[in-house]
Amino acid sequence: MKKTIKDVPLKSKKVLVRVDYNVPLNDQGQITNDKRIAATLPTINYLLEQDCAVILMSHLGRPKGKAVPSMSLKPAAARLGELLKKEVFMAPDCVGPEVKKMAANLKNGQLLLLENLRFHAEEEKNDAAFAAELASLGEVFVQDAFGTVHRAHASTAGIVNHMPLAACGFLVEKELKFLGETLNNPRHPFLAILGGAKVSDKIAVIDNLLTKVDSLIIGGAMAYTFLKAEGIETGKSLVEDDKLSVARDLLKKAQDKKISLLIPIDHIIVDKVDFAGKKVDSAASIKETEGAEIPDGFYGVDIGPMTIKRIAPVVMEARTIVWNGPLGVFEIDQFSKGTIEIANLVAQATEKGAVSVIGGGDSIAAAKKAGVDKKISHISTGGGASLEFLEGKPLPGIAALPDK
Ligand code: AMP
Repeated sequence: MKKTIKDVPLKSKKVLVRVDYNVPLNDQGQITNDKRIAATLPTINYLLEQDCAVILMSHLGRPKGKAVPSMSLKPAAARLGELLKKEVFMAPDCVGPEVKKMAANLKNGQLLLLENLRFHAEEEKNDAAFAAELASLGEVFVQDAFGTVHRAHASTAGIVNHMPLAACGFLVEKELKFLGETLNNPRHPFLAILGGAKVSDKIAVIDNLLTKVDSLIIGGAMAYTFLKAEGIETGKSLVEDDKLSVARDLLKKAQDKKISLLIPIDHIIVDKVDFAGKKVDSAASIKETEGAEIPDGFYGVDIGPMTIKRIAPVVMEARTIVWNGPLGVFEIDQFSKGTIEIANLVAQATEKGAVSVIGGGDSIAAAKKAGVDKKISHISTGGGASLEFLEGKPLPGIAALPDK
């Protein structure tokens, strides 16, 4: 168990907090979704209650080591100020003499946001001198940016070597609790549902989950590589031909371990679709297949009704559910039914007492679209980080933190 902010003396200290304010901005530089900022309020409010001077730091976008004005964190400082109803000072940079002076002059109860960490190439290189310079701004380091803990960067990993006190914030604590407990101490039956575009992205996840789950449902474009590996026709569906043997190995592993690995038994198919633009032509022919085979000239774009019927009881019986990735091209309404149904089923199972964890932007969007996101036990804020957690990989930003 990692130390949390409840385990370290914070009273009236200068605290440096790594947050994830990598928020989406529109062409005018306005924040279009502030949930990542709102998610840090519990930790910030706790630090303010402890009379701390709070210095926040984050990255935004991929400026690749240069100061790019459109990737400034100024809009995040303004939004945080609105949410807290309190002034948030904005630093012109994240290191350097001026920033050092601002940090030194910051009084207890005040907030300062440093400028984008990735304006310096040293951040992503986990440069020790840069990490030490960041660390010199405060007395305690708090990690509350779950979205970046899978990266070994100066502000996530290196910094801990230069700080006498370090701990995770409430957001990271919650992620570790849910992801850690579901994976390491699940109630059975334990079900994982994986979807999304590519098998190659999820091989390590499937491999690790096959050591833990009782059932695994695979949908989305990934499923066609598994179907083809089983010798089933997949038409024009997205298949990763270079991953057929990996898919075969995973199917065999599941069979050897007596894990029920469910792949779709029918599909929604279409002959013309613009995957990149997420559009379907009005002249396109949309059909349901009668079985697992997909005819020539057609793409599989969603799981079909028989598949939903087959997996419904598996979801309803599960006592632990981990879901990552859509089961079809859910951005197109006609192909969103499978994913929406899964979201509803996971919510119903949760109401019956299952613990459910959803990760990945698309699955979260689907749960919202279905109107059931509030019913899910835990919605993970870090897409890449939660996936690496499911892979069983140590997360550098977590490993660096001291244990209780
Ligand atoms: P990922 O980022 O790997 O979770 O993949 C998410 C993307 O997979 C979404 O944009 C979906 O539209 C896409 N996807 C899901 N199912 C299919 C499918 N059957 N064919 C093509 N793309 C799909």
